[in-house]
Amino acid sequence: MSRTEPAWYRDGLPHIWLPYCQMKTSPPPLAVTATDGSRITLADGRELIDGVAAWWTACHGYNHPHIRDAAQAQLARMPHVMFGGSVHEPALTLAKRLSDLLPGDLERVFYTDSGSVSVEVALKMGIQYRLNRGEADRRKFVAFRGGYHGDTLAATAICDPEEGMHHLFGGIMPEQFILDLPRDEESRAGFETFIADHAAEITAVITEPLVQGAGGMLFHDPDVLRCLRDICDRHGILLILDEIFTGFGRTGTMFACEQAGITPDIICLSKALTGGTMALAATVARRHVFDAFLSDDPEHALMHGPTFMANPLACACANASLDLFGREPRLDQVAALSARMSEGLETCRALPGVRDVRVMGAIGVVEMEKISDPAALRARFAEHGAWIRPFRNIIYLTPAFTIAPDDLTFLMQTIREVISEMA
Ligand SMILES: *Cc1c(COP(=O)(O)O)cnc(C)c1O
Repeated sequence: MSRTEPAWYRDGLPHIWLPYCQMKTSPPPLAVTATDGSRITLADGRELIDGVAAWWTACHGYNHPHIRDAAQAQLARMPHVMFGGSVHEPALTLAKRLSDLLPGDLERVFYTDSGSVSVEVALKMGIQYRLNRGEADRRKFVAFRGGYHGDTLAATAICDPEEGMHHLFGGIMPEQFILDLPRDEESRAGFETFIADHAAEITAVITEPLVQGAGGMLFHDPDVLRCLRDICDRHGILLILDEIFTGFGRTGTMFACEQAGITPDIICLSKALTGGTMALAATVARRHVFDAFLSDDPEHALMHGPTFMANPLACACANASLDLFGREPRLDQVAALSARMSEGLETCRALPGVRDVRVMGAIGVVEMEKISDPAALRARFAEHGAWIRPFRNIIYLTPAFTIAPDDLTFLMQTIREVISEMA
């Protein structure tokens, strides 16, 4: 990199603070100059094949012309206007389309600009729902080990305690109930007993449906979600599904909750909402949740409102992304990807150090016994021409649904090669 290091890289890098990164010891970040489809171009002229789709967002590949055109048209008309007291076409069109796509009466859309904040809003909806109904003692949330819901403090409090680094932030986060996901009969009985004992304190249960992503790409059956829905119903508890990762086709259906045939009371969407183009998130509530906020008391209104709420550019990109889901065979592409990853990654199972191989939808996972240095491994993948970002003991692919078969084959071959080199 150093020979061809551009001036902006050399001059700017000393002023940048990178995410989740020990900057003393990590390999330097790659200098990216362009993206296209499933390709990332680096400043030194190299091209990487992308296995991550920009942290699971770029489901149609980078720079899709339809989304780009929509953004350009919106940019010329109105890049932004405040949402406090005014509304605009891209936001209302998107709200109607999301309500039509989502199951049941999930029909009230509250926009924010990141997944974490959409989770914060879901939590506030839960708290104020209780206050407005005169149930002020029900202020606690139930979440699950292995879960990830974002990096803001209230979201961190409902992450897996280890993954969320609760030992670092103890004392400044709200204390919540973090339980094991009830995966079998026995744990279901235990879970229901806990819920029954604490129902008077509990606002809502929150989980990622079918896949706990950042917590380790852990899969569970649709049955688990049906069980949660059932227990929540019987104890008058709200069910919040965080579909920030799973939404928009990633698990094989438009939304993961469809596979369980359930409707949560509140759903959080972000990541692939704009096809990876702009920052946007939505917290969508069912009618009965929204209705609890209607009152003559101004304090019963939802107390949240980000400055860049419902940014028109972002909403235009999201509408364009939904156009693509409507007119291109995205879910078929996910099914094809799934089949190819199941076959291609399975060959990793026999390699040394591999603990498990699993695939759901367009998520392919090779779980290792241990990865001693994920950042170094990421650099190794890049040397091979692949953009793959291992974390903890997980190597995974979440490619664009449009990735070319040869590119996917290359990524899977590279994983095999690098694992073999590691041994
Ligand atoms: C990424 C993610 C978040 C946080 O979204 P940000 O946009 O990074 O704040 C929350 N929940 C899940 C399930 C996620 O995958």
